[in-house]
Amino acid sequence: MTLLQDLPRLLPELSEKLGHAAHKSLVARGVSVRIGTRASTVCEKGVLLSGNEFLSAATVLCTIGTRPNPLVERTLLTVERGRIVVNADLGVKDFAGLWAIGDCALVRNVRDGSIAPPTAQFAVAEARVLAANLLATLNGEPTRAFSYRSRGAMAAIGHRKGVAKLFGLQFSGLPAWLLWRAYYLSRMPTLGRKLRIFIEWTWGMFFPNDITHLRFTRSAELDLPPTIGPDESVKTARHAEAMTL
Ligand SMILES: Cc1cc2nc3c(=O)[nH]c(=O)nc-3n(C[C@H](O)[C@H](O)[C@H](O)COP(=O)(O)OP(=O)(O)OC[C@H]3O[C@@H](n4cnc5c(N)ncnc54)[C@H](O)[C@@H]3O)c2cc1C
Repeated sequence: MTLLQDLPRLLPELSEKLGHAAHKSLVARGVSVRIGTRASTVCEKGVLLSGNEFLSAATVLCTIGTRPNPLVERTLLTVERGRIVVNADLGVKDFAGLWAIGDCALVRNVRDGSIAPPTAQFAVAEARVLAANLLATLNGEPTRAFSYRSRGAMAAIGHRKGVAKLFGLQFSGLPAWLLWRAYYLSRMPTLGRKLRIFIEWTWGMFFPNDITHLRFTRSAELDLPPTIGPDESVKTARHAEAMTL
C-alpha cells in the first residue's frame, strides 16, 4: 500500500510532532508513505506521478480536500476562494440582513486574525455567534465579532490508532484514537443515537466491517437527471436512493 502526499509532511493541520507520529505509525504497519509526491493522473491501471513515474494500483482512494459548493460562485455575493465574504459579525459583506457561516463562508476569527477552517468544530462555534447576533439584531442591540479558540484537532490514522492535540496537549496511538471516538460520540445528538453508535463502534472493534453500501452521492449529483441505460432499473433505483440520503 502506498500513501501519496504532495506536501512535505503528513497532517499539516496538526503539529509537526504528530505528523511524524502518524507517518511512523503508518510505516510500521507496512504502508509506503511518499511525501512531497504529487499524483497527476489516475487511470484504471494506477497513478501517474508528476515526475512521470507510474504506480500500478488496482484500487485508488482519493482524499484530496473538499471545496465549497459551486452554487456560491453563481450568487451576486462577494466571493473569495469560493467562499462568501462575511463581516466580523458573520453578516454577508454589503448585504445587510444576510448572514453566512460554515464551509461556504470566509469567516475571519478575530481572536488571531486567521481564516476559520472548514471544520464542524468551527461551523458549530460560528452558529452560536450567529444565533446571538440574530437575536441582538432583532432587539436592536449591537452584534459581536466571531472570536473562537480552537479546542484542538484530531485524526484517526487507522484501526485503533490516532493523533490528537487537545487544549495544547499532544497524544498519539490508542489514547488519541479513544479520545477521538469519545469526543465525536459526545457530539452526537440524542441519547438514543449516542447509544446506537457506541454499540456499533464497540461491535466494530471486535468484528470485521459489514460492507453493505459503497456508493456516496454528492449534493451536486442530485441536480443530474437519473441515468438511463441498459440496466435502467438499477440506475433509477440508485437515484431514488440518493434522493433520500
Ligand atoms: C469526509 C469528511 C470528513 C470530515 N471530518 C471532519 C471532522 O472529523 N471534524 C470536523 O470538525 N469536520 C470534519 N469535516 C468537515 C465538516 O463536515 C464541515 O466543516 C461541516 O459539516 C460544515 O458545516 P456546514 O453547515 O457549513 O455544511 P454542511 O454540514 O455540509 O451542511 C450544508 C447543508 O446544505 C445542504 N445543501 C447543499 N446544497 C443545497 C442547496 N442547493 N439547497 C439547500 N440545501 C443545500 C446540504 O445537503 C447540507 O445538508 C469533514 C468533512 C468531510 C467531507
